[in-house]
Amino acid sequence: MSARVLDGTAVGQAIRADVRPDVEAFTREAGRPPGIALVLVGNDGGSELYVGSKLKSASESGIRADLERLPATASIDDLLQLVARLNASEVHDGILVQSPLPKSMGPDAERRVFDAIDPAKDVDGFHPVNVGRLVQGRASLVACTPSGVIEMLDRAGIEIAGTRAVVIGRSDIVGKPMALLLLNRHATVTVCHSRTRDLAAVCREADILVAALGRPAFVTQAFVKPGATVIDVGTTPVSDRAVIEALFAPGHRRHTAFEKRGTLVLGDVHPSVEETAGALTPVPGGVGPLTIAMLLKNTVRAAQERLRARQA
Ligand code: NAP
Repeated sequence: MSARVLDGTAVGQAIRADVRPDVEAFTREAGRPPGIALVLVGNDGGSELYVGSKLKSASESGIRADLERLPATASIDDLLQLVARLNASEVHDGILVQSPLPKSMGPDAERRVFDAIDPAKDVDGFHPVNVGRLVQGRASLVACTPSGVIEMLDRAGIEIAGTRAVVIGRSDIVGKPMALLLLNRHATVTVCHSRTRDLAAVCREADILVAALGRPAFVTQAFVKPGATVIDVGTTPVSDRAVIEALFAPGHRRHTAFEKRGTLVLGDVHPSVEETAGALTPVPGGVGPLTIAMLLKNTVRAAQERLRARQA
């Protein structure tokens, strides 16, 4: 049997459609649109692409989106000064600093910069104050990728409460907030990582399995209980022909796409899982489009909460 495909592109569009009237209402009330500042340091190709699509999506939704660039040679102090200026800005409700930051800024640069963002403008949901609120089940700004997964499950009518959920990955940006969101929705949650013993057996317990490890096609049918919902968060660009040919036969649309581009973004879930899972997010077109949609939603929420705080 073939799994039901959970279409992230359609859900992303639905979230954006829901955001629009809120943007319009805010703009009428505040006399300005919600605003987000996107900070890009250096010129990493991948980051340019991500920031470009975030800017475009925000503008299309009626949100003011400003790109703030710093050269790759900028110091961490330059970046912290920019964040301080944006924290004080009246017109920016959200601040997003695109990672990764240049290595020259030091190993703890991301943590220092995320910690410096005003929690009220932390639309990425990475600030310890927002993470703490999530732990306590009273979050408002939550990391976009995991909160997008919850939206996807809800909109697909997939029950969370009472289920067994397994999350592979314990990063601060995906695995941990994902586990907390599922826990807050009354799932019984297990978090797995590189030291987990007998990973496949643990995963086979899951009604909802979230793979967020960044290892292409790692999660095989042996990890999946028949009928389970499998969420594939992984996105790894692969240009090794042998890897692609081991996964997709010639003539398969993904094989053809690889022939055209010479590279393919792969998820963490093996294509054969389609035969075991009850529902499955594809890569691309699964979790990816939700992340940007949730960023827009967080920006509007931050704008509304800042306005309410000023009116109080
Ligand atoms: P990360 O920081 O590298 O974390 C990976 C996690 O996976 C770690 O907790 C690691 O365990 C665990 N892991 C690695 N190998 C493992 C193995 N063999 N068995 C069990 N666990 C293993 O990555 P991330 O930032 O969370 O991202 C994960 C993936 O999601 C990446 O492919 C990333 O590109 C993708 N992603 C996609 C989106 C999107 O919008 N679609 C957004 C964000 C991230 P340890 O903690 O023990 O090292």
